[in-house]
Amino acid sequence: ANLIDIKEVRHTYQTQNGPLPVLDGLNVSVPEGGFCAVVGPSGCGKSTLTRLIAGLMKPDHGEVWLHGEPVKGPRSTVGMAFQNPVLLEWRTILQNVILPLEIVPNKLSRKEQEDRARHLLSLVGLTGFEDKRPSELSGGMRQRASLCRALVHKPEVLILDEPFGALDAFTREDLWQTMHRVKEKEPFTGVLITHDLRESIFLADQVIVLSGRPARTQYVLDVPDTG
Ligand code: ADP
Ligand code: ADP
Repeated sequence: ANLIDIKEVRHTYQTQNGPLPVLDGLNVSVPEGGFCAVVGPSGCGKSTLTRLIAGLMKPDHGEVWLHGEPVKGPRSTVGMAFQNPVLLEWRTILQNVILPLEIVPNKLSRKEQEDRARHLLSLVGLTGFEDKRPSELSGGMRQRASLCRALVHKPEVLILDEPFGALDAFTREDLWQTMHRVKEKEPFTGVLITHDLRESIFLADQVIVLSGRPARTQYVLDVPDTG
C-alpha cells in the first residue's frame, strides 16, 4: 500500500490578475519508506504540492491520500524542512529540535524528549552543539538541526523543500551523505523538492518530473539501488 497517493490533482490559484492554473494532472505515489524527489522549473507548483501533502491546502480537483485516508486538514504528523531553516534564536539548538514534541501530543517525559533530540543531533554530527544558539552555527549546521527538528516526532512524512539549495557544493554533498546515514538509522517516508537532478538521483529512489504550464507529472523515474 502507498503512504502517499496523489491522483489527478488540479489546482488554480485565484489572484488579483485572475485565475492562475498551477497544477493540471499531478500524480504522485510513494510507498511506506520510499523517498521521492520532485523536480521541475521554478513556479511549476512544487511548494504547492508540499502544502497539499501537509493538508495546509485543498486541491480543486483530484485526491490527496495519506495512509489510505483522504487528507482533510493540517496534519501535525508531517515534518518539514526548508531552504532557510527557521530556528528560534532565543532557544538553544536542543530546545529548537524538541519544539515539535512540545506541540504534538506524545507520551515522552522531558528527559525522553531530550534524549531523542540528542540522539538525532548525534546522527547528523551535532554532538557538542546542543546548547549553542542558532546564530553560532554555520548554514550547513543549521540545516542539520532543522532536519533533526523535522524528524523528532517521527513524522509519517518528511517533506524537504529545497533544503540544500542555499549551501555551497561541498557542504551540500556532505549533507547528502548525512541524509543517507539518517535514513538508515531513522527510516522515514520522504518527499524531496529540488532543482538538482544529481541530488535527486543520489538521494531518492523515485524521481518525479513536473513540467508544463499548468504543470503535470511528465515522467516518473525509478532510481536503481546502487548500494
Ligand atoms: P514552485 O515551488 O515550483 O516554485 P509554487 O508552488 O510556489 O511553485 O507556485 C506555483 C505558482 O503559483 C507560482 O506562479 C506562484 O507565484 C503561484 N502561487 C503560489 N502560491 C500562491 C498563492 N497562495 N496565491 C497565488 N498564487 C500562488
Ligand atoms: P518558492 O520558493 O516555492 O518558489 P515563492 O517565492 O514562489 O516560493 O512563494 C513564496 C510564498 O509566497 C509562498 O508561500 C507562496 O504561496 C506565496 N506566493 C507566491 N506567489 C504568490 C502570489 N502570486 N500571490 C500570493 N502569494 C504568493
